[in-house]
Amino acid sequence: MMIKQLSVALLSLSALHTLAEIPNNPIAGGIISLPVKSTNAVTLNDKPVLTTVIDGQRYAVIGVPLRAEGALTLEIDGKEQPQILEDFAYEEQHIEIKNKRKVNPQKNDMDRIGREYNQMTPVYTSFSADLTPDWNQMILPTTGPYSSAFGLKRFFNGQARNPHSGIDIAAPEGKDIVAPAGGTVVLTGDFFFNGKSVFIDHGQGLISMMCHMSRVDVKEGDVIKQGDLLGAVGKTGRATGPHLHWTVSLNNARVNPKLLLREDQPK
Ligand SMILES: [Zn+2]
Repeated sequence: MMIKQLSVALLSLSALHTLAEIPNNPIAGGIISLPVKSTNAVTLNDKPVLTTVIDGQRYAVIGVPLRAEGALTLEIDGKEQPQILEDFAYEEQHIEIKNKRKVNPQKNDMDRIGREYNQMTPVYTSFSADLTPDWNQMILPTTGPYSSAFGLKRFFNGQARNPHSGIDIAAPEGKDIVAPAGGTVVLTGDFFFNGKSVFIDHGQGLISMMCHMSRVDVKEGDVIKQGDLLGAVGKTGRATGPHLHWTVSLNNARVNPKLLLREDQPK
């Protein structure tokens, strides 16, 4: 009897699980999940995309760039398959930054920003084989109120800048930041805009970046599990106050991290 009840409970849990496990939100900054055959080769711009098997069905899981419009063209076995995107308008956000250099960087800042871009791009465009099993059951890296949503069209001191490519969680300086899912630390540094940051490769082009940290407790090459300590909340880089900025990138497209959060996490 006990065993039977347990198996019923497990069954209903896995049914719930499955729904949450397949993110499908075909908008700019969203994630498309497409059922494919086990033999299909699936690429986007000639690069492999994340594929995984859930309940016996293989899916291709694709990040939609924030600037994408109309359709995203996948290639399945060499044939073009446009995925139609739904329109979605993100809100505007206006921010005043006192340090004008962080809004209009000087020449030597631009050199630094260029060097940092060259460090980050290979990470975002990388494709390592092993996907962490908890890739779509992520936990929040720290707790606190959401202070800035994903995708906001941003204006710094009245000037249009890139859209907000992650989510912000307000938390006091020094609060723990943990790994949202398993993976390998592939880059750490102190960057002009992002401040002290940690990049985690979760596998198959799925990358997390934690920014504005006061302290980094991991180093490149560290293999980490979900919940492992990465460092602490801070306000380094272009930040108005202590908070965690968390970016999730899939096939080099910044996507809404909330789409990959485990069901019990506050949305
Ligand atoms: Zn942010």
